[in-house]
Formats: sequence, structure tokens, C-alpha cells
Amino acid sequence: MMEENKDVPDLLDISAAAGPDATAETAAAPDLLNMLPAEVDAALAEHFAGHGERGFRVGQTKAWLYQRDALSFDEMTDLSVDARGRLADAFTLTVPDSARVERSTDGTVKHLWRMSDGELVESVLIPSRDRLTLCMSSQAGCAMACVFCATGWSGYRRQLTTGEIVAQYRGARRWAQEHGLGPITNVVFMGMGEPLMNRSAVMPSLTLLNHAYGLGARRITVSTVGIVPGIDELAGRPEQFRLAVSLHAPNEALRQKLVPVARKYPLPDLMESLDRFEEAGGRRITFEYVMIDGVNDELDHARELAALVGRFQAHVNLIPFNPIPGPDWRPSPHERLRAFADVLEAGGVPATVRSPRGRDIAAACGQLRAEHETTPPKPYVELVRQSRGVAR
Ligand code: SF4
Repeated sequence: MMEENKDVPDLLDISAAAGPDATAETAAAPDLLNMLPAEVDAALAEHFAGHGERGFRVGQTKAWLYQRDALSFDEMTDLSVDARGRLADAFTLTVPDSARVERSTDGTVKHLWRMSDGELVESVLIPSRDRLTLCMSSQAGCAMACVFCATGWSGYRRQLTTGEIVAQYRGARRWAQEHGLGPITNVVFMGMGEPLMNRSAVMPSLTLLNHAYGLGARRITVSTVGIVPGIDELAGRPEQFRLAVSLHAPNEALRQKLVPVARKYPLPDLMESLDRFEEAGGRRITFEYVMIDGVNDELDHARELAALVGRFQAHVNLIPFNPIPGPDWRPSPHERLRAFADVLEAGGVPATVRSPRGRDIAAACGQLRAEHETTPPKPYVELVRQSRGVAR
């Protein structure tokens, strides 16, 4: 059992980021998109039976929810006008506004969604040869304050509900179909927020994506900065969801400077939780490593990294740092990325150098939203100041 690290600064008082949903339903009308499939079945069956409607109406309504991404009950045109009106009286649907859509020259599409209370959240569609991947957000902002991340720059706002998480998938899927991009093949929780700090909403959203929207569990990846209790919870699920770990440093000292939550969940504890995850399902773990020139990209770092993750069926993604307002860091040059990857491969760890996508539309995590901010939060400024001791 891990002991609580009392030295973690106030910035990492992340209890707020693990609290109840900020938009938990208080209104009488429940939100169908915020419910698990079995709950929707029961609620709709009771609703239609109460109005003397036949049972097959449940299936019709669910097809509009889960296959056709209906934005309102009015769209459910195989139900009578009266039946649609009664549904709208009894239930609501989480449908955020599309505040902005940006399309990159490389095909990447970024949506900025405005939630009912005005919070802005991003999702990104990333087409590649045989895939259409959706990168989704799990929180408005983020409390983890990783010093290289635009969302960390913006700070934490609130938890997203299950309905708000799944709404990004529905909205992006509908947009992709209307614009000829085809079906979404993969989902990654790598947008704004730390998904495993919002487990009460993220875990049901995994169930919905897999069981209601029909996306294979192996096509859904949860990315974490290393929240050990969340990794254990994911390991305990029967579905084969994939895990990506944002490591960004091969040793404790450097990781604590780049990823402050490492002070709460140090590397030995993180590695043990990954052992348990691998034992639970035999699933390959992906490690994400942002390459920052002169900070974490020395070849010795690559050797340390190979030694650290070599015990897993691991794959390392090397991602050039995407410059953000704040630290004056640069991405590692391409030759360094290649040389770093070669050292990993020589150490028996498969590695891929990722190309930055959507730079012309600020597609790095949280960057579009950060453009709307004017002043970084004080704790973040302090972290950046401390981290300058890392290099240069
Ligand atoms: S990298 Fe992820 S966990 Fe870290 S601040 Fe950004 S959104 Fe949060």
C-alpha cells in the first residue's frame, strides 16, 4: 500500500480533480447520454410502457442515440411527433455547441466544444492511412500541471460528465461522416485532462463507447500521467482497453520536474502498477515521451529509458515538443529523435518517432483553449521557473 507523500505541493492537491461531476444532474429530467446502456433500457422501457407504446420503441430510440448520433428528439423521425414531444418532456440529451472547428493542412480537425455552463473543451480527429483516431478530453483543464503542456498552463476548471465525454465522440463522428472522413476507428483519451483523475465519469464512458457505440476495447486507449489507483482500476476491468503512460523522463529527478504528480506517484510505484496491469491482461503498454531539446533527449536518457521499460511488452512513442506559451523550450531536432529511437531499439524497446500533427491549428493538447487565456496561473509560473533548472 503506497503511503501519501506529504511533500507534494498545494498545486498537487488533486482531490478537487477527483471530485464529483461539476454538472451532476439536479434537474428532474435525466440525461439519456449520461446513463449506462442498461439504465437507458430500463428508463425507456418504463417511459414507453407508461404511455401505452410498444416495446420496440426502445430499440428505435437507442438507434438514434448510439448509431445516428441524434442531437435532439426532434431528429427521431420514425417516432410520432407526439412520442418525440413526450421523450423531450421526460429526458434531456447532452449536446455541446460546436464553438469552433479548425482543419489543418495535414487533415487534422480540431473541435472546440462549449458545454452548457460555457466551459470549453477540445477534441481532435486525426486521419491516417487506415485509421481515423479521435483524441478526446476528460476534464475541462487539468490539475496535473505538466510543464510542457498547454492544458497545464491553463489550469484545472472542472470534471466532465460521462455525457460530456461521450458527446465529443458523437459530435466528432457526426462531423466526420458529414465531411467524408468515414467512421472513427480509434479513440484515445489524450486531450485535455487526466482521465484517471475523473474515473467516475471516464469508466462509464469506456463502457458506453465499447458496449453501446460498438467501438472495440482494443481500439480505445486511456492515457495517464501515472495515476496508480486509476491504472489498478483499469487493470481490473474485463475489457481489453489499452493503456498509454506519459513518462517523459527516464528517472525520478527529471520526471518530478517535468511531471509534478510524479512526486505523489514515484516511478517505483508506477512501474509496479504497470506490472499488475500487464499481468492482468497481457496488454502491451505504450509509453509517451515528449522530446524537449537539451532537457530530456540525451542518449544517456535513452539508455536509462530502455532499462526502465524493457521489462514490459512496451512501445515508446517519441513526440517532438509542441511549443506553447510559457517555457522557452524547443522540440528536439529530428536527428536527435532518430538517434534516441535507435538507442531504444538497440536496447530491445520498439520505438516510433511521431510526426507533429496539426501545428497550423494549435492541435497540441489544450492549445486552442489556451489561446483564449491571458495569464498563466501562479503555481504554473513557479513550476516553469523551477524547471528551468533542468537545462540551460
Ligand atoms: S500532459 Fe496531460 S496530465 Fe499533463 S497537464 Fe497536460 S493534460 Fe494534464
